[in-house]
Amino acid sequence: MDIKYVSTTCPYCGTGCGFNLVVRNGKVFDVAHWQRAPVNGGKLCPKGRYAHEFIKSPDRLTKPLIKKDGEFVEATWAEAYDLIAEKFRSYKPAEMACLSSARASNEENYLMQKFARVALKTPHVDHCARLCHSSTVAGLAAVFGSGAMTNSIMDIADSRCIFVLGSNTFEQHPLIARSIVRARQSGAKVIVADPRNTPTARQADLYMPFVSGTDVAVLNGLMQEIIRNGWEDKEFIARRTKDFGKLKEAVMKDAYSLDNVSKTTGIPVESLRTAAEWIAKAEAAALIYSMGITQHTTGVDNVKSTANLMMLTGNLGRPGTGVNPLRGQNNVQGACDMGCLPNVYSGYQKVNDEAARKKMIDAWGVEDIAEGRVGYTVTEMINILADNPGELKAMYIMGENPMLSDPDLRHVEEALKNLEFLVVQDIFLTETAELADVVLPAACYAEKDGTQTNTERRVQRWKKAQQAPGEAKEDWQIICDLGAKMGYPEQFAFKGPEEIFNEVAAVTPSYHGMSYARLDPDGLHWPCPTAEHPGTPILHREKFAMPDGLGVFSPIEWKPPAEVPDAEYPYVLTTGRVIWQWHTGTMTRRSWSLEKEAPTGWIEINTEDARELGILDNEVVRASTRRGSIDILARVTPEIIRGVMFIPFHYKECAANLLTHNALDPVARIPEYKACAVKVEKIAEV
Ligand code: SF4
Repeated sequence: MDIKYVSTTCPYCGTGCGFNLVVRNGKVFDVAHWQRAPVNGGKLCPKGRYAHEFIKSPDRLTKPLIKKDGEFVEATWAEAYDLIAEKFRSYKPAEMACLSSARASNEENYLMQKFARVALKTPHVDHCARLCHSSTVAGLAAVFGSGAMTNSIMDIADSRCIFVLGSNTFEQHPLIARSIVRARQSGAKVIVADPRNTPTARQADLYMPFVSGTDVAVLNGLMQEIIRNGWEDKEFIARRTKDFGKLKEAVMKDAYSLDNVSKTTGIPVESLRTAAEWIAKAEAAALIYSMGITQHTTGVDNVKSTANLMMLTGNLGRPGTGVNPLRGQNNVQGACDMGCLPNVYSGYQKVNDEAARKKMIDAWGVEDIAEGRVGYTVTEMINILADNPGELKAMYIMGENPMLSDPDLRHVEEALKNLEFLVVQDIFLTETAELADVVLPAACYAEKDGTQTNTERRVQRWKKAQQAPGEAKEDWQIICDLGAKMGYPEQFAFKGPEEIFNEVAAVTPSYHGMSYARLDPDGLHWPCPTAEHPGTPILHREKFAMPDGLGVFSPIEWKPPAEVPDAEYPYVLTTGRVIWQWHTGTMTRRSWSLEKEAPTGWIEINTEDARELGILDNEVVRASTRRGSIDILARVTPEIIRGVMFIPFHYKECAANLLTHNALDPVARIPEYKACAVKVEKIAEV
């Protein structure tokens, strides 16, 4: 029997754990611990432990499919490519849009934005970072000049005080939670603010339950208390920042006194006071956040507020400090780095900067790449398709499932059905693929080489362990084939992922010093500007990435969510994930060890709220918002604050996103998944 171990990186969350795929006679059959994996040292959460199961699902796509008379029929690759090229050639560039994938490799994401800009010449390329952390990218770039996690995962263990806000780290990033545990074991204080008493909250020294959507009020209140007591880091503020006066004017308002913040947020005054003191007086304090901060119409404001707090207390540029957004999907950081955003090329080089555009024209050897203007975000694409049919006519979606992941799903379905031509490339026939005209079968993470960039900016290798099933192809190969078919054989003449990565490194300043040889076995943190550079686990040590090197304080006022409870819809609905499932469930729901643990969704209702509504634990109730209704199991619990309800968003049979609101942050265009108005009713017995 031929058995080998192939070390690779987990395809689920942004932690970037390493493990071994165990391959028997050419087929992956198990996951084994890789003891010296750089991020996780051999430990895995359940999703990583069972990351081999979905690979062998009988549902895997194995042949191209073309829809004829409303039914999919199997086709050859040549037929599929001919049809796609013919259709794409029939549209004007701005009538087409591409969605790339935070699940695919850096190389594939780089190629997708290159395909959009070179072969289709459209500026409209985006991906699901829009839905999770676009407010991080915009907010932190505005404050620090770089929109990424400032410190490393290991570094969290060196913190003396960790403030977790809007992140259920123990369930969503379990191997990052280990660093929190280590810090706490060595005496660090842990503060958690969350509407739910999550497994993360239960580890806290100070748990602050609060009303979803009041984050800026919490942060401004803490900052007022710190300034009132003179606990701010005056030396850091003077040397490393600007506009402190503007911040002070905003946060010292009466609205942010602890009494008023307590009324707005529901957090007791004494808890706020304690949190302010712990953060300000800690030798090194770190702030960790995730989508509880970003997925709001005030997402950018929320992110900037977290940065304000950490600059105010001098907690940047040192071990154990920092503003640490935990990215959701395995390669959402990389997909952003690769320029799968409508405003930037790889390395965040702006498309409307003439010098950057000229650089890409020279690198790609094509004069007429997409015009140098900012294209549409995915949320704008959906709205345009729904509201202005005909402006966008064709889409090419790689490895994304907006039919479950986007807010207000009825609106999304209506939008996608207005497309004249939709190509979906994926490993399964997702809810989105079902709407496609052509479906292209892709290889999964275990079936290709490549790299991905985790939440701490560490670029790591994927290694091929088995062949893709049937005729499925690696995403990079499909894009290269289509690029050649569209008339750009030289621009897409790559023999493999390493050649693509070399082009990435050549055109992307923060990746300049990276190569496959250097990435083995521990990866490198960007920025890594030269071949000798060791990488940068901690950003902003001496100065921020701004032209003058200074961090910028932002005066931020708290604004309520776009939709607040009223007499008709009297509760706040918030959404999130569970440890056993992953995003739209495409992979985890086909993993039997995971699916059996959490086989369907539920709505969490506070015990007192349930009593008033006459709802019992485990009964099926109807949850409704202005967008729609779902029937769903009630989970009655004291572990959620009164007035707030929670639904995990993985389950198509009770899809939370049929209810969520597509109101957008005005800067990042991220939807407000984390707060809308909902009502819950008993279902009349028949
Ligand atoms: Fe995979 Fe994230 Fe779990 Fe690590 S913590 S094993 S990266 S899902």
